[in-house]
Amino acid sequence: MTLTVNPIADIIAPLPKGLLIDGQFVPALSGKTFKTFNPATGEVLAEVAEGDVVDIDLAVAAARRAFTGPWSRFTPFQRQQCLLRFADLVEKHFDTLALIDVLDMGAPISAMQARRQRAIGLPRFYAGMCTVIAGGTLPNSLPGEVFTYTLKEPVGVVGAITPWNAPLTSTLWKMGPVLATGCTMVLKPAEDSPLTALRLGQLLLEAGVPAGVVNIVPGFGPTAGDALARHSDVDKVAFTGSDLTGRKIVEASKTNLKRVTLELGGKSPDIIFADCDMEAAVAGAAMGVFANSGQICVAGTRLLVERPIYEEFVARVSAYARALKVGNGLDPATQIGPIVNARQLERITSYMEIGISEGVTAAAGGRRLTEGALKNGYFFEPTVLSGVSNAMRIAQEEIFGPVAAAIPFDTPEEAAAIANDTPFGLGGGVWTTNLSTAHRMAKAIRAGTVWVNTYGGLDPVVPFGGYKASGYGRESGTEHLDAYLETKSVVMKLA
Ligand code: NAD
Repeated sequence: MTLTVNPIADIIAPLPKGLLIDGQFVPALSGKTFKTFNPATGEVLAEVAEGDVVDIDLAVAAARRAFTGPWSRFTPFQRQQCLLRFADLVEKHFDTLALIDVLDMGAPISAMQARRQRAIGLPRFYAGMCTVIAGGTLPNSLPGEVFTYTLKEPVGVVGAITPWNAPLTSTLWKMGPVLATGCTMVLKPAEDSPLTALRLGQLLLEAGVPAGVVNIVPGFGPTAGDALARHSDVDKVAFTGSDLTGRKIVEASKTNLKRVTLELGGKSPDIIFADCDMEAAVAGAAMGVFANSGQICVAGTRLLVERPIYEEFVARVSAYARALKVGNGLDPATQIGPIVNARQLERITSYMEIGISEGVTAAAGGRRLTEGALKNGYFFEPTVLSGVSNAMRIAQEEIFGPVAAAIPFDTPEEAAAIANDTPFGLGGGVWTTNLSTAHRMAKAIRAGTVWVNTYGGLDPVVPFGGYKASGYGRESGTEHLDAYLETKSVVMKLA
């Protein structure tokens, strides 16, 4: 896409900046706002209404009214039509939506173009699911003539809480199952990148989704987020974010024992065997960790490399890292954009110090970039750390930056043991030309998704989620809807 627009005047200025409650964009009851920044320049992008406990109360009440109102009488076919119209609008406005992500969280425009199919595909996938939700008839052994069947019913009001790292697709991922199942929702987008969700809210109304079905309350985690997770009239929370916050969500959800699904972080292993296609493995493993500046939950941050090729692989992946173009995401040539904010940049820098104190070497990168046009943004070099052992903190803790830790191994058994030796289990990768090794490792890795000779692709059809401290529940696939549905059994005596 060639940029013929003024980003601030043409893209950001016209966006709604209020809370979306009951079909209207309104200020926060307190009148408070907060600033959102462009991480490539450090400049203020917009001031957005700051929702708090009272605004969450209003939004939940609107969602409850919508749940029992006309929306409850929408047929599956009507919900499907809404989702299809919404998908068409996402397609029509994709370039603008992509630019909002670029400006609000720093994603390179080139990477956003690669997400086009996923962004448009998500609402279309969930549109397809509307008409296949069905209970079943059951045999039974009760006395007399008894007919038993099950009904699938929407769970109710959903509280959705999202992280900042992929605003467009993560918001669409949360909206899809709500609309497919006939639930309603209050969404609390991340405070670092709330603008895309607000634009999507506008498009939902344009698509004919009734007022109150989707409410959007930007604000901060400990206030608006906590109020949503704690609210006793919310039936389910769908959370994506860090494991630390996930634990708080579970705690807050105890008020009414609401259902909770958690998509949390990871420290995913990407295992490179000596018999791999080296060129494909270098590029695949590099982008598996550096894409989106490493700010991806499934980033393959631990490169487990078979010892005979360890030195060569580290050298080649380091050369690949050094060749990546880091810069403002608005430049179509940029491959790696900025880190989302100063705090996150500080976190990455502090992990470099921890790594050095643990005895690792930066084979590539390792520092903040401040040259020329990058000086006011939050840029960090794609980094490869060598001489890493899996017990080190940099191998155990999620850094959420463009940092790969290269760890040698000698046998497939050792690779599997290292791969599984973290609290997390979100993703994993295997690079090999041996089919048996591929299948054995895919089985041995305790993670929700294993990629073989590729890394990180997501498909709305394919279930996605974590083992262990990476969370519970699955998004995408038919399993996703289970978390938004109750099963009611009806047992009927016929005589
Ligand atoms: P975060 O946990 O700090 O914040 C996520 C969301 O939770 C934000 O909207 C935030 O405002 C809210 N929040 C914070 N404290 C809260 C509280 N006490 N109660 C309720 N809500 C609260 O995470 P982040 O820094 O925005 O995102 C990065 C994390 O998200 C990483 O750990 C990453 O791995 C994870 N992530 C996971 C997936 C996945 O699908 N598994 C996808 C993307 C990101």
